[in-house]
Amino acid sequence: MPTQAQPKDGFVMLRGSLYTLRRRYGKPNCHCASGDVHESPALAYRSAARTGTLSLTGADIEEVRAALARYDLARRELDCSLMQASLLRPRRVF
Ligand SMILES: [Zn+2]
Repeated sequence: MPTQAQPKDGFVMLRGSLYTLRRRYGKPNCHCASGDVHESPALAYRSAARTGTLSLTGADIEEVRAALARYDLARRELDCSLMQASLLRPRRVF
């Protein structure tokens, strides 16, 4: 498991999204063999180094959700300051 996405370490910010992982484990006598697949919460994440997915346990979900929200907030603040910076820049007229 990549070090960028270890919930136990505590996230500051995460870029990604939560989704539901659906899969079959392939055991012939398990209910998933007849089409009733296993569902578990998971994170699809992106970092500078890599992208990946990570399945989550119940305890991790709130922490991940909070870290995703911090990322979204930081990105909006950055977008806002970039927009302000572009207003300050002299415009080139064609
Ligand atoms: Zn199964």
